[in-house]
Amino acid sequence: MTKFTVTFDENECKGCELCAVACPKKLIALNLEITNDAGYNPAGIGKMEECIGCQSCARMCPDCVITIVKND
Ligand code: SF4
Ligand code: SF4
Repeated sequence: MTKFTVTFDENECKGCELCAVACPKKLIALNLEITNDAGYNPAGIGKMEECIGCQSCARMCPDCVITIVKND
């Protein structure tokens, strides 16, 4: 299990990439293989095992798309 689980409410994402810029580990990118209901490519996380749980991505997101949970 990864240390943190980072989830994206994909249908609420507008693909602004603020979260990708905010991530100090550069783990987030738009998923160009998916188009959400609003017509945007939603953001997603690549190597979840490298997430340090800093919450920068979630704090930066203007639409509260991202949730980070610490795994025990
Ligand atoms: S919590 Fe921090 S390290 Fe993890 S994906 Fe978000 S910005 Fe990146
Ligand atoms: S900051 Fe929020 S709305 Fe913008 S790309 Fe990231 S998850 Fe999507």
